[in-house]
Amino acid sequence: MRDLSEPIPVAAEPVDEAELAALAAHFESRPATAIIRWATERFGDGLVLSASFQDCVLIDLATRVAPRIEVVFLDTGYHFPETIDYVEEVRRRYDLNLRVLRPSVGPDDRWRFDANGCCRTRKVEPLERALEGRTAWMTGLRRVEAPTRANTPIVAWDRPRRVVKINPLAAWTDADVEAYVAERDLPVHPLMEQGYRSIGCWPCTRPVADGEDVRAGRWAGLAKTECGLHI
Ligand code: SF4
Repeated sequence: MRDLSEPIPVAAEPVDEAELAALAAHFESRPATAIIRWATERFGDGLVLSASFQDCVLIDLATRVAPRIEVVFLDTGYHFPETIDYVEEVRRRYDLNLRVLRPSVGPDDRWRFDANGCCRTRKVEPLERALEGRTAWMTGLRRVEAPTRANTPIVAWDRPRRVVKINPLAAWTDADVEAYVAERDLPVHPLMEQGYRSIGCWPCTRPVADGEDVRAGRWAGLAKTECGLHI
């Protein structure tokens, strides 16, 4: 197996997925900042952080390591006004190197009858634009968020997008997040106190009751559980 300190071949050609699996195992016992430091040193400007802005834990961690890391926000056109305000609050707090990607279509009601198509147009395609020419992306995905995320690796090859995907918070629990938010005195999304535990677009998000799965309020009533960013 290659020395973990050696460069990984990225960009046009897929990397050795077994090697990434070894790296992922190595990082299981490492703090998030060590994973982020590795990613920023390894991928440099090829790395982008994709943030949903339901909290700013990953942004806080990443900007401590790399203050000018590019942070991408996918503005679907259907975010809650509170989310847009929160993005601005966080942008100002960290003087973020923020890139906002918007869909190529204007307002419509496609979410009413074709949620998958709507997510593809408003989230997946803009993300693919954000990743053009990049070699890696970093997300705040956590295993405890949903059964579909239970096996999230810390590092993996994102085969369809041909980039490395890094999830430094994969092993974090809700208690870990709450403790970090308190310790760092981070701003909290204003809808959290109204029972929204996972916050996406307003047409497809509702608050959840105590004991409900945190993502139960996303696409409630549909079989859909993911928007297509995390495949
Ligand atoms: S979450 Fe809903 S409104 Fe947002 S892009 Fe997906 S289907 Fe459209």
